[in-house]
Amino acid sequence: MLLKNFVDGQALSNTSGKTFPVINPATGQVIYQVEVADDSVKQAAIDSARRGFKIWSTKSSMERSRILLKAVELLRQRNDELAKIEVLDTGKPWQEASVVDVVTGADAIEFFAGLAPSIEGDQQDLGGDFYYTRREPVGICAGIGAWNYPLQIACWKSAPALACGNSMIFKASEETPHGAVKLAQIFSEAGVPAGVFNVIHGDGELGEWLTRHHDIAKVSFTGEVDTGRKVMAAAAGTLKQVTMELGGKSPLIIFADADLDEAVSAAMLANFYTQGEICTNGTRVFVHDDIRQEFLQRLITRTKKNIVVGDPLNPNTNFGALISAKHQQLVLGYIETAKQQGATLACGGSALKPQSAENGYFVEPTIFTDCHDDMDIIREEIFGPVMSVLSFTDEAEVIRRANDTHFGLAAGIFTLDIRRAHRVIHQLQAGICWINAYGNSPAQMPVGGYKMSGIGRENGAETLLQYTQIKSVYVGLNKIESPY
Ligand code: NDP
Repeated sequence: MLLKNFVDGQALSNTSGKTFPVINPATGQVIYQVEVADDSVKQAAIDSARRGFKIWSTKSSMERSRILLKAVELLRQRNDELAKIEVLDTGKPWQEASVVDVVTGADAIEFFAGLAPSIEGDQQDLGGDFYYTRREPVGICAGIGAWNYPLQIACWKSAPALACGNSMIFKASEETPHGAVKLAQIFSEAGVPAGVFNVIHGDGELGEWLTRHHDIAKVSFTGEVDTGRKVMAAAAGTLKQVTMELGGKSPLIIFADADLDEAVSAAMLANFYTQGEICTNGTRVFVHDDIRQEFLQRLITRTKKNIVVGDPLNPNTNFGALISAKHQQLVLGYIETAKQQGATLACGGSALKPQSAENGYFVEPTIFTDCHDDMDIIREEIFGPVMSVLSFTDEAEVIRRANDTHFGLAAGIFTLDIRRAHRVIHQLQAGICWINAYGNSPAQMPVGGYKMSGIGRENGAETLLQYTQIKSVYVGLNKIESPY
């Protein structure tokens, strides 16, 4: 298969003939080739997005809403076809993709389609004269996505952008570009005008081109902190608005009164779901000293017994392959460093070659104990299935240690003491927090990071403000008084 750029409502061939391969991480095999967006494609994408914006931004919000809801219907009808694409591109298990990736993407579009007709300005009487405000779209937005939830990220970015009347040029990660093209086709089929959602393919250079382009008003970026820094610096050249969804090193704090089985479930979900490739993962698991032994025993038993590694398309598999050979090596490197720095390997720690997918880039679900706050695995985002267990005795101490990081994406706490739950959460420096839960992210709930984990929010009504700008209109009904 040859995947082309999707511009102006259709597949567009490049003139350079350049392509790059996409590899299925579970097999190591090339599954399709992708056409690079060359200069002709880039220019076409900008021209088309400009035309698309003109048409889309002048439609009534009810009409936009109706069209987006049609896209939601199509996404849900094609759940299995789209989920399979995500499994092949990312290596994540079908068990997850078939119930999460498309579902949560469609939910976000449905949520913002519902909100579109509620976007309104206000007015105030000034004694004859008056002013009113209009909440207008910002223009052409760029969406740049990471590889872990490719379709969901494309949905989460396009949903508020399009609901508010903007057009969007989207660049998926070059490792996982298929889902975004499928979404563009579905938008088109639903009646979204040509040019409103264009998808172009390429590496970081193409992303950088988007962040520097004069005609792009806003960039919504999901990726690593270091790339985010570059995107923001490049966007500053033309003073673009930015939304940054970046990495994390989130704490999951388990107090002595927690429901222990629930806490173990949360720790496993927060480290092994999507084989650890989730930005909000609670990778620093702080466990109260009094329950540490019991917690570890149940955690290790369940990890060894219940995790099924193998061909991600097999519905029984619940733990897939990492995105690439390079990423697998990076994760294994962190595991080696942790051992050298004195952490105790309690479980896992090696590359895996499951019989059903022996050429895939798998790493065992890994648990370290006896960790200290200054180890690399505690300070740096690994983005793989590596859980670090730390112990604590005192509430104030654990809050201080949990906050001792430049990240601030997420945090979780397990306790049955309602006062402590809220008291602790209110002191944690994180944008997304869970009490007796971990990882849930409904479309209604705004998500995003504190500190170096992000700027702005995705999902939630809050996000409408980031895809619109206020125009104030002063209307003079009185005669103008002038000294001239
Ligand atoms: P990267 O930062 O490597 O890449 C993200 C995207 O940016 C890719 O499409 C990439 O292109 C592109 N890119 C690379 N360089 C530039 C540049 N100079 N200017 C503009 N765009 C550029 O992240 P990963 O893809 O490795 O994703 C993993 C990271 O994403 C983790 O840190 C994770 O925490 C974070 N993440 C955050 C989420 C959140 O909501 N907070 C959600 C999901 C992931 P290409 O890859 O094609 O080269």
